Amino acid sequence: MARTTRNRPFRCRNCGLDVPSDAPGTAHRNHCPHCLWSRHVDETPGDRRAEADCGSSMEPIAVHVRSNGEWALVHRCAGCRTIHLNRIAGDDNPLPLLRLAVKPLAQPPFPLDWLNTI
Ligand SMILES: [Zn+2]
Ligand SMILES: [Zn+2]
Repeated sequence: MARTTRNRPFRCRNCGLDVPSDAPGTAHRNHCPHCLWSRHVDETPGDRRAEADCGSSMEPIAVHVRSNGEWALVHRCAGCRTIHLNRIAGDDNPLPLLRLAVKPLAQPPFPLDWLNTI
């Protein structure tokens, strides 16, 4: 049986959810649809860099919008600090997604009043 290691169900290490392998809207699921945490595994076949063996949890730290308007999650590995971009899935929890998206606006590095003076 030629089953790859990619599409296997996994248990989320952050919230404990058993995550099924099928994800609507994406070829393979790489993060928890509930809390959006991921795991640092080798996602690129043939990528032989040492980071592939990391296995640490990856924290969702931001939302990135691709040029075609598609949202992607920015994950940072808690172990080796590597940054990954991952497509969101159709059943991802919209609440933590939106929380990540508005985070910079909720905590601007300058007073928003400045916008009136520009
Ligand atoms: Zn989770
Ligand atoms: Zn890592």
